Amino acid sequence: MAPHILITGATSGIGEACARQFAKLGYSLILFARREERLLRLKEEIEKMGITVITLKVDVQIESQVSKAVSSLPVEIKQSLIILINNAGLAVGKGPISGGIIDDWERMIDTNIKGLLYVSRHVVPIMQANQKGHIFNISSIAGKEVYAGGNVYCATKHAVDALSKAMRIDLVQDNIKVTNIAPGAVESEFSIVRFKGDEELAKSVYEGFDALNPGDVAETIVFAATRPAHMNLNDITIMPTAQASATVIHKSI
Ligand code: NDP
Repeated sequence: MAPHILITGATSGIGEACARQFAKLGYSLILFARREERLLRLKEEIEKMGITVITLKVDVQIESQVSKAVSSLPVEIKQSLIILINNAGLAVGKGPISGGIIDDWERMIDTNIKGLLYVSRHVVPIMQANQKGHIFNISSIAGKEVYAGGNVYCATKHAVDALSKAMRIDLVQDNIKVTNIAPGAVESEFSIVRFKGDEELAKSVYEGFDALNPGDVAETIVFAATRPAHMNLNDITIMPTAQASATVIHKSI
């Protein structure tokens, strides 16, 4: 049986790019996201390459959905599940704590921290049984630094950074690698979600410099996933050349 990879948040951006790139390497895919039509469209497209794709409509904020989806996988697929990409995540809103919208905070905490934990809680025992695995946690430069208005989003990504370190300690005796990925600005649907559908504002984030594209991040993950068995890349920060820190971006406009 082909090796399997489980990717959360596969309907857009980094997750979708990972699906396409791992399919090219011959991995069978297990894809989680909430937008089912997009999942099915991607499945149809990738299956034309002769790759098996399982899509599951899962909201990672809801533990019962995660549990049901993971336990629905047949035993032989669990036995060949060797990579997990904990990618599903979002920023919602940007502004000071004093004016913070509680629902926005809950969505970020429930998706970026609790969702990643729920998926890991159900997938890690499978990898432990296999005594093999590689987990990629998609953090952010916002998990290394904080910036004005980024408070809760930055806190959730700092939590992901901490969880990557903690999981590495917890799982070292099980031959399971943990790689933390911390991208800078990537042009995806991220800013459209952050600014609640304001496409003009979202577009302005990426104006005047060459942002990363989701494929750049996926390529980096593929590189890390294809290192020899004895070697792990613990933590990778990947930035556009024009970005020096969370807040310093050299723009031509
Ligand atoms: P996109 O908005 O393009 O993609 C986000 C993906 O996450 C979508 O497939 C979405 O699918 C999925 N998702 C969101 N919430 C849930 C949920 N509750 N359950 C299941 N899936 C969910 O953004 P990116 O590709 O840029 O973001 C991917 C990751 O990268 C995120 O964790 C983000 O924080 C991180 N990141 C992004 C950066 C950027 O500049 N773009 C920089 C650094 C890190 P659906 O809506 O169908 O559920």
